[in-house]
Formats: sequence, structure tokens, C-alpha cells
Amino acid sequence: MVCASCGKEVRQKGRIQFRERCPFCDAPLHTCVHCGFYEKGAYNQCREPKAERQVEKERENRCEYFSASSKAPSAAQVSPQPKAAFDALFSKENGKDT
Ligand SMILES: [Zn+2]
Repeated sequence: MVCASCGKEVRQKGRIQFRERCPFCDAPLHTCVHCGFYEKGAYNQCREPKAERQVEKERENRCEYFSASSKAPSAAQVSPQPKAAFDALFSKENGKDT
């Protein structure tokens, strides 16, 4: 998973534990912003309707439905990322027709 605070790749061994923190910046990892269900446009910003509402999305929570997100957090929260990765992604998409 990618840390929403520092943007570094965090290697997880199995499930993220409630108290687990980023080894690089010590940000809590068991948070909404790191969860696969987190979605800004959704009700309570969560795609899991049974999950308890978490008020602070960047605070560690005890949500049972937490599932580490495989996608990178929204760019706004992340400090500069290697842009090449994104460029590669887009050039692949664009090159489809040729
Ligand atoms: Zn971090």
C-alpha cells in the first residue's frame, strides 16, 4: 500500500493491524484514507454501508471493515511522487490505437 502521508510504498505483511504505523513517517495506517472502501463521494466517504462512520479520516480507527487500499491515495494528499510512473500509465493508454 502507499502511505497517504508521505507517499512511500509500505510493504505490509498480511493484514494491517489497528496500531500499525508507517515506517517512514509514523503516520497511522489503519485509517480511512488507507482503506479500499474509502471514497470521497460516497455516504460517510465509505463504500461499505455497514461500517461505522469515522469522523477523522486520517486518524487511526478500529473499523472492522478496513481493507488496505491497493491504489495510491489521492494526489492532493501526497507529496511529490515519481511522475514517470503516471506518465508510463498514460502513454500506454494513448498508444492503444496506434
Ligand atoms: Zn508515511
